[in-house]
Amino acid sequence: MATLADSALAPRVRLLPRGLPGELPRLPRVNAVDLLQRTALQLADAELVVDLGDHIGSGRWWRGLATLTALVAAGLALGSNIPVLPAAGPAPLAPALQAEGRSAGIGPLALGSPMVRQAAPSPLARRLAEAPERPRIELSATVGSGGLESALRRSGVGRADLDALQQVIRGGAGLRGVMPGTSVNIVLGRRETKAVPRPLEFLSFRAAFDTKMEVRRGADGALQAKAIPIRIDDTPLRVTGLVGTSLERSARAAGLPPRIVSEYLRQLGYAMDVSREIGRRDRFEIIVAHKRAETGETQMGELLYAGLLNGRSNVSLMRWGNKGEFFWQTGEGVRKGLIRTPVAGARLSSGFGMRFHPVLRYSRMHQGVDFAAATGTPILASAGGSIVFAGWGGGYGNVVVIDHGKGMRTRYAHMHRINVRNGQRVEQGQNIGQVGSTGLSTGPHLHYEVWQNGKPVDPRSVKLFGGTQQLGGADLKRFKAEMARLKGLPGAGA
Ligand SMILES: [Zn+2]
Repeated sequence: MATLADSALAPRVRLLPRGLPGELPRLPRVNAVDLLQRTALQLADAELVVDLGDHIGSGRWWRGLATLTALVAAGLALGSNIPVLPAAGPAPLAPALQAEGRSAGIGPLALGSPMVRQAAPSPLARRLAEAPERPRIELSATVGSGGLESALRRSGVGRADLDALQQVIRGGAGLRGVMPGTSVNIVLGRRETKAVPRPLEFLSFRAAFDTKMEVRRGADGALQAKAIPIRIDDTPLRVTGLVGTSLERSARAAGLPPRIVSEYLRQLGYAMDVSREIGRRDRFEIIVAHKRAETGETQMGELLYAGLLNGRSNVSLMRWGNKGEFFWQTGEGVRKGLIRTPVAGARLSSGFGMRFHPVLRYSRMHQGVDFAAATGTPILASAGGSIVFAGWGGGYGNVVVIDHGKGMRTRYAHMHRINVRNGQRVEQGQNIGQVGSTGLSTGPHLHYEVWQNGKPVDPRSVKLFGGTQQLGGADLKRFKAEMARLKGLPGAGA
């Protein structure tokens, strides 16, 4: 009968302590978990945490107060005796190591940082009286408005050396002839003390476009100058191109400076009517004196040749002689002719001959030509001469008459302002007044007449008159050979 019940009861039986033989059997052991649970419940019921604001004076309140007092007292009693635990710190550095570390560290100099200062010198180091100087100094200076001497003085060349230089550089214009902007290479040597300037050892500069000057201190201690010639290619520059919309703009675009272009237009103005006779398909040909140094610098000189190819009446003028006058290829001087357009940039509005007069309202001979231009535009004397009339001329308004000699006179009418006096001498191209609309005139314009031996002539038909220079003989031969040489130069431009 014990089969099933025994097997079911077996574990319980085994839990029982096996008492020693002869001892009383103990009570069965209480379960540990049950005991804890029971104690916790009892403690919760005991209400250790009492609200001291509630039921003041009750037994429960007094118990709560006592608990709190006991806890505080226990805390104070324990806490006051706990020692402070120090954190682990770095080991202190030796003073020498500390100084070395400071010198390697980075910090503001204002706070006394010894940045970049080296470690303390060894006892072998000796302190110098003053910092040593470099044995020589190589400088380059630029000549300013004060000239070469001032540039050298600023670079530290002494008075004695400057005086010696003046003696040595005799060629050319000496120290004073050096152009501002020239760069100068200077080498200064070793000196005895800091109280004296360093001696000049070497000096080189561009003394002129074709000369380089070198000054060295010789073995005897004296300065020696040597002029070194720079090779120059002086082949003139020949520029050609299409006139296009503006001759001036096209010539400037071809690389010619404004002074050359205006000189070209001025010379052309003696030969033709620049305002009317130039077309956009015409070609200009300008030859300018030009120097190119082997060191690369270039220098543009004066206008040598002024040409215009229009297929009808080509202009070909070349500078000849000491006065810088321009001559036609035939050897005729160009300047003695009349300026074709005595008003710069004006338009021919009425030609020479019979016409219906707009103010008088009948046909009559127009004894000159009219140039339309704005009031105030300058009027130029078309040739040199003396003023024989300057004042009010009735229907002509303000009028000026110039006698050019040899039976030639020009008249300028309807002027707004007169700048010359009766009897005064004027040069070709001189400003004699301003365009206006005085007298019998419908609008601002210059009425311009040319008289030859007491008769009015068409200004456009007058090519030259007395006094014109004409080259001849061997001079003309040389002139023509030179013009052929210039025109044979390879051209630049479009
Ligand atoms: Zn007129």
